Amino acid sequence: MALSQPMKMPAFFPARARIGVLTCEPVGMLDYLAPEGGVRQGALVLVPLGPRRVIGLVWGEGVGDFDLAKLRPVARVLEAEPFDARFLDFLSRAADYTLTPLPLMLRMATRAPDLDQPPAARRVIVPGSGQASRMTEARARVMQVMADHGGASFAASELAQLAGVGVSVVKGLVTQGALAEIEAPRDLPYPALDPARPGKPLDADQQAAADALRAKLKAGGYGTTLLRGVTGSGKTEVYLEAVAACLAQGRQALVLLPEIALSAEFLDRVEARFGARPGEWHSGITRSERRRLWHMAGRGEVQLVVGARSALFLPFRDLGLVVVDEEHDGSYKQEDVVYYSARDMAVLRASINAGQVVLASATPSLESWVNAATGKYQRLDLRSRYGAAELPEMAAIDLRAEAMEAGRWISPTLVRAVEARLARGEQSLLFLNRRGFAPVTVCRACGEQVGCHQCDARMVEHRFQNRLVCHQCGETRPIPLACPSCGVEGKLAPVGPGVERIAEEVAARFPEAKAEVLSSDLFHSARALKETIARIAEGGADIIIGTQIVAKGHNFPKLTLVGVIDADLGLQGADLRAAERSFQLMRQVAGRAGRQSGAAPGVALLQTHQPDHAVIRAILSGSDEAFWDAEAAGRQAAGMPPFGRLAGIILSHPDLSVVSDFARHLADAALPLAEAGAELWGPAPAPIARVRGRHRMRMLVRAPRQAPLQAAIADWLAPIKLPVNLRLSVDIDPQSF
Ligand code: ADP
Ligand code: ZN
Repeated sequence: MALSQPMKMPAFFPARARIGVLTCEPVGMLDYLAPEGGVRQGALVLVPLGPRRVIGLVWGEGVGDFDLAKLRPVARVLEAEPFDARFLDFLSRAADYTLTPLPLMLRMATRAPDLDQPPAARRVIVPGSGQASRMTEARARVMQVMADHGGASFAASELAQLAGVGVSVVKGLVTQGALAEIEAPRDLPYPALDPARPGKPLDADQQAAADALRAKLKAGGYGTTLLRGVTGSGKTEVYLEAVAACLAQGRQALVLLPEIALSAEFLDRVEARFGARPGEWHSGITRSERRRLWHMAGRGEVQLVVGARSALFLPFRDLGLVVVDEEHDGSYKQEDVVYYSARDMAVLRASINAGQVVLASATPSLESWVNAATGKYQRLDLRSRYGAAELPEMAAIDLRAEAMEAGRWISPTLVRAVEARLARGEQSLLFLNRRGFAPVTVCRACGEQVGCHQCDARMVEHRFQNRLVCHQCGETRPIPLACPSCGVEGKLAPVGPGVERIAEEVAARFPEAKAEVLSSDLFHSARALKETIARIAEGGADIIIGTQIVAKGHNFPKLTLVGVIDADLGLQGADLRAAERSFQLMRQVAGRAGRQSGAAPGVALLQTHQPDHAVIRAILSGSDEAFWDAEAAGRQAAGMPPFGRLAGIILSHPDLSVVSDFARHLADAALPLAEAGAELWGPAPAPIARVRGRHRMRMLVRAPRQAPLQAAIADWLAPIKLPVNLRLSVDIDPQSF
């Protein structure tokens, strides 16, 4: 396909030459005339499209045979400095790999506001030298936002909005001198990071790993390293050494983090290490920050970016290192519009850039584990926790042998363990990966389970909000008095526990204890979550009740007990990845206990009905290798990833008969798959068969490892005409199967 030819060396096109411009519109590549003064390949331009103007990239020579006299010229050159040719190569190869149309890829890579606006001077608010005479609550909020953003600059209106106050409050602080309003160019430079500053003295394992990474960066060329070590073993210190080596070479570095709540702590660490804060890229940054970072990445004027998965699509000028922290984390997979895994795209981008990738995890994905075992990746292990306590002791609580009261989920054994912690002034964490109060609401009169109107999903009771919530589409409604099916009043009952229900049980059993619930739906901002975590870390809670957000990286020094309320949750189900996910999550959660140095090691207790289940046994034995090797063997026997290749085809339409007829038609046309040695499974209803009023069906394509999976799917789908309003997405390497 002509569209995805990698770029040759940047060329210059004189005025009125015929050029091919890739636009973000579905039409993709169009021919235009180069503007007065000419334009270089890879430049960002604004071109007319019908009555509108759209952003495009000068891709190469025009290829159409459209009369030159009738071609329209480029309207304006937005960035004359061309983007790195390797970046365009990355976009086209990522498009090929994910079977995404290239224009969509470009749109994803240009997702920054006001790219079509010229950089102009503007008035911004920065910290002032004076003090406000009177610090009202509103004023304090504004100052807090300034402090939280490390002295960044804001438009006055933006600052007011972030602080939730009127612009007059900001202006008042300016009048008083606590803030200042200055004329600033739109794109302030980032403060320089100093890679020569010394880091912490490393222990032997850390030093060996850091040396290996430094050597690889120094040697140049592409490579991927799996950096493995339990939480707290000092992986971050090690990969910051790799960042230092990359920055010292004058190349850019990117650190991807799964959970944005982590980044505040992380930014402080980077600042402590390199003397300045890096660029930040995630949904929480301001519009002006977003625009600034996008441009600065492209000009090579930001050395280090810390961001969420989409940061991988920033137009870095010379990206030399990508770190994927917690590489196994599910949030690296995007399953919307463009389906991609940031981990895999990091490897692709680095291989094009002759750069290095560091995948850091205590519990690697099976893919990475296998790639390390076969030598495709190098593996570096940090065996011990950095100067800290042992891994927690782990034990199962066999629920079949416990005297469980009805409607109670904390077993007598776990209750005693919590009581012992309370008596010693230590913290306990009760983990249940379920938001809300109860996962099911049942009518005791007719047996109806209250479901969502839009989705094939049950409504989950959220008692703190006093509503039922659909976890698929977010629809909420008040908790009804009468059953929506039989109309009988007062018979609806919550069944099963969520974290809110465990909190209720904790309040009843340990009335003197201070309890805190950590669940993503209970925090409206990353800042609120961060504040709560800081309060807990300082001992502001005796018992923490949390969903998977507690599994990630937070350090609670007084925590010595982790109780997993339902270790069996996630072990069932047809999903082949269930065991892997369950294993990773429970391992991470258990790792929360006993991190502090000096103190006795913590304890992790797993409540289970199946203490002999392979996953539970693997966790208790502490032998991760045994678990991964067994999982890998199972996948290999089934020809499943990473030993075979898999793609999901998801079809959806409001009308069930349209989607099922089309699915059958598609299956009948699947000859190109068979010719490539691939098998088609399905169609079958998707795991969630209806979402937001659309019926969903799924097919899986499985192929041997070496088969040309993408090409076969492209051949198969190319001649197919989609019915109106039918959506078809291709998910290469789906997360669940
Ligand atoms: P991981 O990334 O593996 O979870 P971290 O790098 O965050 O581990 O290290 C855990 C804790 O130990 C952090 O507080 C970190 O500052 C500290 N730490 C790690 N390595 C060292 C070192 N070499 N010297 C001093 N403190 C260290
Ligand atoms: Zn719904």
